[in-house]
Amino acid sequence: MPMNKEILRQEQPIVYHTLSNALKNKRLAHAYLFTGPKGSPKAETALLLAQSMMCQHPDADGFACGQCDQCKRVEQEESLDFFWKHAIGTIPEKNTTFTHTKAKKTERLKKQDIVNLQAFFEATSAEKANARVYILEDYDQATQEASNSLLKFLEEPQPGIYGILIADDKNMILPTIQSRCQTVIFRPPSKASMIQALTEVTDRDSAEMFVESGYTLAQAKELIDQEAFPIIKQAAIDYSRNWDSYAEISRMQTKIFIPKSTLMDKKWIRLWMEWLLYRIKNHKLPIAFETEVSLQRILVEAFDILRAPVDLALFLDKLYTQIRKVVLDEKR
Ligand SMILES: [Zn+2]
Repeated sequence: MPMNKEILRQEQPIVYHTLSNALKNKRLAHAYLFTGPKGSPKAETALLLAQSMMCQHPDADGFACGQCDQCKRVEQEESLDFFWKHAIGTIPEKNTTFTHTKAKKTERLKKQDIVNLQAFFEATSAEKANARVYILEDYDQATQEASNSLLKFLEEPQPGIYGILIADDKNMILPTIQSRCQTVIFRPPSKASMIQALTEVTDRDSAEMFVESGYTLAQAKELIDQEAFPIIKQAAIDYSRNWDSYAEISRMQTKIFIPKSTLMDKKWIRLWMEWLLYRIKNHKLPIAFETEVSLQRILVEAFDILRAPVDLALFLDKLYTQIRKVVLDEKR
C-alpha cells in the first residue's frame, strides 16, 4: 500500500515537504536514499513517490492521486516503467505478469538484480517522456558486487530514470553510493501510525496491546501470524474474568500453560502477561483503581523475574496466587 499522504504530512513533515518541493518544482534527484529506523514508512513512501512521478492527476502538493491508471498500475506492479526489488523475505502480495516480481521469497540484493534492473529498463526504453522508477529495498544488505554495478548505473544517470534506495542503516552503504543519492531521513514511527499499520493484519485491541508493550512492527507481525496468538489472547481475556477462582487457575494449568507444551514458553507467557497488563491499564476490567495499581505492580515485578532463568510452572503458580489474593482482597 502506498503511504497515506495525510499521515505522511503529519508524521514525517520534513520528508513530506522535501518530496513535495521536488515534485512541484520538477527538481527530482536521480537517486534517493530513504533511511531511518525499522518501522518508519520508507517503502510505503517510496511507492507514493514512484506513483507521484508518474501520476496523471497529481494534487496541489505534487503527490499522486492514487486513483488514475498510472497510479494503479504502479501499485499493482503492472507498469513497464516501474521496477521494485522487494525487502528480504517478503512475498509480493500480488501476482503479476512480469517475472521480476514473481519470486516468492526475496534475498539480499545481488549483482544479478542490478543486471536485471538495467535489462528491464533497456527492454522497455521507448520514446518515453514520462518517468521510470526503480525501488531497491534493504539496500544496506546489498552485496559489494551489487553496489559496484549500481554505482556505474548511477554515475551515468539516464534522463527520466529515477531510483529510490531504502535502508535502515545508512552507515552500511558505500560513501560513493551515498554521495550520488539525495538522502531523505525518516523519523521513528509514531504509536498512532504503528497501530494503524497493525490494524491491517489484526484487530484494534491487539494492535494497541503490541504498540503499548513496545513491540516493533516486525515482531508483532511475526506473533500475529502464529497459531498460538489467538489462543493466548483468549486465555488472557477468560482468565481476567475469573482470576479469583481456583477453577480458572486449574484451567490455565491444564489447558493453556501445560508443562512441556509449546505454549509453555517465555515468549507466550510474556505475551499473555502483556495482555493482562493492557486490559488492566485500559480499564477493561470491573476492578477498583487500587486493585489496578496492585495488579500492575505484581505484573511489572513478574516481567523482571521472567528475564532471568526461572522454572516457568512455579513462576506461573506464584503469579496466579498473587493475583488471586489481590482480587479477593478487593471483594472483602
Ligand atoms: Zn494518479
